[in-house]
Amino acid sequence: MTAESTFKLTYATMFNPPEELHTRFEDALARVKAKLGQEHGMIIDGKEVFAAKKFEDRNPANTDMVLGIFQQGTAEDAQAALAAARRAFPAWSRMPWQDRVALIRKAADLIDQRIYEIAAVVSLEVGKNRMEALGDVAETADLFRYACDRMEANNGFVVEMGRDPLVGFEARNVSVLRPYGVWLVISPFNFPCALTGGPAAAALVTGNTVVMKPASDTPWSVRLIAECLRDAGLPDGVINYVTGPGSTLGQALIDSPEVDGITFTGSYDVGMHIYRSFAQGRWPRPTILEMGGKNPAIVSRHANLEDAAAGIVRSAFGLQGQKCSACSRIYIEAPVYDQLVNRLVELTNKLSIGDPTERKNFLGPVINRKSYADYQAFCEELSQAGTILTGGKVLTEGEYAKGYFCAPTLVADLPLNHRLWKYEMFLPISTIAKVESLEEAMRLANDVDYGLTAGFYGSEEEAQWFFEHIEAGVVYANRPQGATTGAWPGFQPFGGWKGSGSTGKNAGGVHYLQLYMHEQSRTLIRRL
Ligand code: NDP
Repeated sequence: MTAESTFKLTYATMFNPPEELHTRFEDALARVKAKLGQEHGMIIDGKEVFAAKKFEDRNPANTDMVLGIFQQGTAEDAQAALAAARRAFPAWSRMPWQDRVALIRKAADLIDQRIYEIAAVVSLEVGKNRMEALGDVAETADLFRYACDRMEANNGFVVEMGRDPLVGFEARNVSVLRPYGVWLVISPFNFPCALTGGPAAAALVTGNTVVMKPASDTPWSVRLIAECLRDAGLPDGVINYVTGPGSTLGQALIDSPEVDGITFTGSYDVGMHIYRSFAQGRWPRPTILEMGGKNPAIVSRHANLEDAAAGIVRSAFGLQGQKCSACSRIYIEAPVYDQLVNRLVELTNKLSIGDPTERKNFLGPVINRKSYADYQAFCEELSQAGTILTGGKVLTEGEYAKGYFCAPTLVADLPLNHRLWKYEMFLPISTIAKVESLEEAMRLANDVDYGLTAGFYGSEEEAQWFFEHIEAGVVYANRPQGATTGAWPGFQPFGGWKGSGSTGKNAGGVHYLQLYMHEQSRTLIRRL
């Protein structure tokens, strides 16, 4: 057991952390490192389930380090998890919503209590620096609470409607939002806690039961969130956690008619594949897809260039550019181009890279061997088509020898018709263009299939124009804390337009919970 913290990790303390945060993180890291290499089961119907085949979960900063052994779940495990969720649905959905809220709040409290251990695992498994790892876990607890708050604010989504004037009768009309049934949550590697926990909490609090499947690079972080839900006292089968390859286990889940709704967060290609295969079902089912981004920052000649440089570098290279909201395109008006580009290069060169669990490092490794190889191929292609201003190479000496470390990379002079202006690389690589006007920047910014986040630096009047014209679900102006990244539940609801998302309603916002329920309009007539 650890002593109670004297402060609470919140959005504000994340930007200005007290010293205690660091000592607590380091103590937790030591405890986590003492139990590396253990085997972890799946959780199906409240029981630990083991598969015949296993897979290793390794640290991308040091691939000699086996973090844990996980189960390679099969199609049978997928069916068992869905069946358990189906059996648990009637009792869970009929439970008063206030009781579900109490259980999810309890799970949020458990996340808070375990935050340093979970964050240490996230840092080791994802390669996030310690502040970003803590942020992922703190955000998860906040997403749980936000879902509960919205349920309360809407009084369980039961709304008395008008009484139709029928002579001789009394009519009572009520709109009730009710859960769909078994909800599937498939999550990506980069925010394993928030992007599994957030959708799961929304599904659960509204009365659905859940099967969650994490990315194969990050099974441990998600298992720890599943444990918080289990330990909060959710009945067996209400949450199920299965692990294994997306192409087999994931596909079996997707193909099953036992799934009543899904929240998928991940790449455009897999998301669209799921969208199409869901269309083969016997009836339309809710399909919440949160997909990739190709997020631009536009900088006007009137911008505060210091704020722009700080915000762009933070968003381009936080988590090694592996955020769906990462700033991967930078459009700068000609009069301030040289000055800002020099500053961007200067700040990028100051970023420290190395073991992400160490306090001094801002960048860790990229997630796996494939991303590492992709980075090298993209840099080769970019060096031929444009100018690499800084970075462009992998780091292999000394402390970098055993991990997937890539230098943060800025590229200029890339022809505007080059394919990589539109392709989500998902790596610490951003491309920069000089534009003659804000209209040109806007045309280029919108000329992609994605529409997730976007940033702007300039006058307030220009910022209003930017908000009006940019095609994206989360937009920021004049923000040194991040040009395109750093949304927080309750502050910046998060979701994408166009190829970045399917619902047009953002997570952590006021319209989100409704996506997890269908409406029943109830009319009861009494003769007078
Ligand atoms: P992937 O699309 O590769 O994987 C996401 C999840 O889908 C993983 O759990 C994966 O399992 C699973 N999966 C893969 N194939 C199938 C299949 N055929 N059927 C069912 N499930 C499958 O994404 P990444 O994990 O690489 O994450 C990065 C991507 O996520 C980026 O494009 C990023 O922009 C996007 N993203 C979007 C966010 C948003 O809010 N819009 C937020 C964060 C990330 P396995 O790992 O086993 O292959």
